[in-house]
Amino acid sequence: MAIKYNEPSPLEVRVISQRFQITPNSASIDTYLATDGYEGLKKAVSMTPEAIIDTLKASNLRGRGGAGFPTGMKWSFVPRTTGKPTYVICNSDESEPGTCKDRLLMEKDPHQMIEGMIIAGFTIKSNKGYIFIRGEYRYLIDIVDKALAEAYKKGFLGKNILGTGWDFDLYTHTGAGAYECGEESALLESLEGKRGIPRLKPPFPAVVGAFQSPTILNNTETFSSVPVIFRKGAEWYAGLGVPKSGGTRLTCVSGHVNKPGVYEIPLGFPMMKLINEVCGGMRGGKKLKAVIPGGSSSPVLKAEECVDLTLDFDALAKAKTMAGSGGLVILDEDTDIVAVALRTIKFYAHESCGWCIPCREGTTWLKKILTRFHEGGGVASDIDLIGELAANMLGRTFCPLGDAAAMPIGAFVAKFRDEFEAKLKQTRATKKTPDLVVV
Ligand code: SF4
Repeated sequence: MAIKYNEPSPLEVRVISQRFQITPNSASIDTYLATDGYEGLKKAVSMTPEAIIDTLKASNLRGRGGAGFPTGMKWSFVPRTTGKPTYVICNSDESEPGTCKDRLLMEKDPHQMIEGMIIAGFTIKSNKGYIFIRGEYRYLIDIVDKALAEAYKKGFLGKNILGTGWDFDLYTHTGAGAYECGEESALLESLEGKRGIPRLKPPFPAVVGAFQSPTILNNTETFSSVPVIFRKGAEWYAGLGVPKSGGTRLTCVSGHVNKPGVYEIPLGFPMMKLINEVCGGMRGGKKLKAVIPGGSSSPVLKAEECVDLTLDFDALAKAKTMAGSGGLVILDEDTDIVAVALRTIKFYAHESCGWCIPCREGTTWLKKILTRFHEGGGVASDIDLIGELAANMLGRTFCPLGDAAAMPIGAFVAKFRDEFEAKLKQTRATKKTPDLVVV
């Protein structure tokens, strides 16, 4: 598959993407070993599980899949003395619209992710792990399988790893292309061969995860960030970012900029610097209207909210949105926000697993109303109705997909009401729609 990649920017801090440009084959174990690959694992196997977890905590690494939960703390929750097997699962089911960086990590540097998973396995003395790869990413399976075979051959996987007496096997597993399987418990159901719907939580996967056993479950980028922490030290890694959010993150920028692409920047990087300097500014010299900062489920920000904003979990939460999966969608002054809202809800209505009513019905009704509204059949009461419907879904669904659908729609209506009203005026001028409550 021929994919065109963006050129790197001199403003990036390339830590986990440092090998992406190496030719002829950045994904091979020879490239990896020649650039300090598996050195982090060698250090980690000389440490106790407690020391490994303390190192991760000190690094301030937070999960890169969306929730931003501290990784060291997550690993510390896994009980190691239950007598049950333990598992390590990599969530490579990257499906959030606007996000395309786990794909790059697996394609360009799969050993980094594998090394992170082996360190996780050693920490909880697991003997088995799985890499759950999004169904649409099937072409990556050959690349990751090849990397696994290389790791076995060099003794980083299999029996008696690095002479420790510990055995660990890793397998790839594909999803069927359902967004819902990116939710950790739905992923586990799918991995176990069942329909990919979420489980009731608690218990969380750390305690009752794969096959009813304690499990470390992290995102591709999170595991890929682990080796360098052991190679260069927790303090070094933490120092790259901001307090409480260490390191760097792969940021996917799409939309109306001159140079869209995937860029590695430190946590706390200014948003406008990313847009104007890393991404070459707005396309066609247009004005910035809005930014969706963390994948399509994150509430939109108006241009004026972005001025002094930095890209890290806490700063974005303070701005009442989220860093999410690290996918920024940049929208210029010509963007039809009603159309963006409709496109967003179409995705979530399609991906709702249908298990719980507020999400199944809410996303369907929002899609119906927004479709009619966008097509010129809107009535005045629709605007409040859309906002109320979204608000009524929030916090009332079985898993986060309901919130992921409701949050952006609520924000579009609240922040760009004028655009919805303008659409209505246009509708009245052309169709003279009566002012009735019609859904
Ligand atoms: Fe399924 Fe949506 Fe309910 Fe999640 S919130 S369980 S995706 S219906």
